[in-house]
Amino acid sequence: MEKRDKIYEGKAKIVYTTDKAGLVIQYFKDDATAFNALKRGTILGKGVVNNRMSAMLFERLGRARIPTHFVSTLSDREMLCRRLDIIKIETIVRNVVAGSLAKRTGLPEGTPVRPPIVELYLKSDPLGDPMINDDHVRMLKLATPKELAWIRRTALRINAVLRPYLARKALLLVDFKLEFGRAGSKLMLGNEISPDTCRLWDAETREKLDKDRFRQDLGGVEEAYQEVYRRLAAGK
Ligand code: 5GP
Repeated sequence: MEKRDKIYEGKAKIVYTTDKAGLVIQYFKDDATAFNALKRGTILGKGVVNNRMSAMLFERLGRARIPTHFVSTLSDREMLCRRLDIIKIETIVRNVVAGSLAKRTGLPEGTPVRPPIVELYLKSDPLGDPMINDDHVRMLKLATPKELAWIRRTALRINAVLRPYLARKALLLVDFKLEFGRAGSKLMLGNEISPDTCRLWDAETREKLDKDRFRQDLGGVEEAYQEVYRRLAAGK
């Protein structure tokens, strides 16, 4: 597989075209940002952890017949993916109150959310990813009603696969962000699933093992990413 042109560089990843039209290479960086890039830093080894963890979870979802853009792992930091036309919606699934849901509702962090809920945000850096509803999705023509119904259903199916899988690794899946895209007429999950995009707490102690350690200056950021990877890799 030959790496060709850089088509996108984001906060945590670079995407390159390849010699095959429908395939791209996703390169995972150690750069970290938070609060719409107001806070910047580096988390050593993060790119490797996020690449490996995403591959593991995409494979797990593939076995559950959930379509993802993942094709194969090329190196420590590179993943071969199907090229997607990304839908400009950030889909968030929540099992436990944390982050912006705690702020918006006043519910204490750690309150169970039963049944899990799905939220939609407009994927827009200049606007700071505002929350939107189904009517805004229709108004902005981000996705058809049929596509949105599929996104909501699939987000909950992904949660139903990942939550018990991570629980077996003593990790509580608090919430996570998904991005979907189109490959021709097919919808599939894109981007990554990692401690950058999920809140993961130790199931017993509720210690935060995700990007909140960076966002909130809790220290032990690298160690948390490595610990998540160690648990996932153990008894694969
Ligand atoms: P919250 O809305 O509470 O800030 O975030 C909910 C979940 O979505 C968290 O797991 C958080 O990591 C993820 N998330 C929300 N927005 C973003 C974003 O712009 N980038 C990343 N990496 N994750 C996000």
